[in-house]
Amino acid sequence: MKKAIYPGSFDPVTFGHQDMIIRSSAIVDELVVGVLNNRAKNSLFSVEERVSMLKEMTASLPNVTVDSFDGLLVDYMKEHGVTLIVRGLRAVTDFEYELQIAQTNHVENPDVETIFLTTNLQYSYLSSSIVREFAAYGGDISKFVPAQFIDRIYEKYNIKK
Ligand code: ADP
Repeated sequence: MKKAIYPGSFDPVTFGHQDMIIRSSAIVDELVVGVLNNRAKNSLFSVEERVSMLKEMTASLPNVTVDSFDGLLVDYMKEHGVTLIVRGLRAVTDFEYELQIAQTNHVENPDVETIFLTTNLQYSYLSSSIVREFAAYGGDISKFVPAQFIDRIYEKYNIKK
């Protein structure tokens, strides 16, 4: 039984994340999408809002659940019997940071392994920060995020469409 976690900020969730969730849930038995409740980081959406959007998005995927965590990912994993981390690699710029985090997590807990999926070419440019930047200026974000989240994102910037 392979139980994996796909951790991230998902602020907001994008088509790139959706693609990762669909692809990784097809190769493990159970996938937890773990929303990081990072208090130091000023997020656009509260952790509850991010969890709720991810739940809507993954409702049709039977082996996917959504949860939030504070603190160390390895601690959450130990508590919940998860040993596999899934992360996405978009460009070489992701690599250095991801390698360091993966190796640190493995040192912290040798049972923990990280697997990387290369980004879908269609979404390799896409990040939550790009979505936030475009939305803040009323840009078209329909190619970046699922349609049901567009109004919620604009609302955060007091933009009426
Ligand atoms: P973090 O705050 O951990 O960077 P993100 O929400 O930005 O969280 O990303 C979570 C994970 O999703 C990371 O592994 C990231 O590389 C991956 N990811 C983000 N955008 C994409 C994308 N467009 N295609 C594939 N993977 C992505």
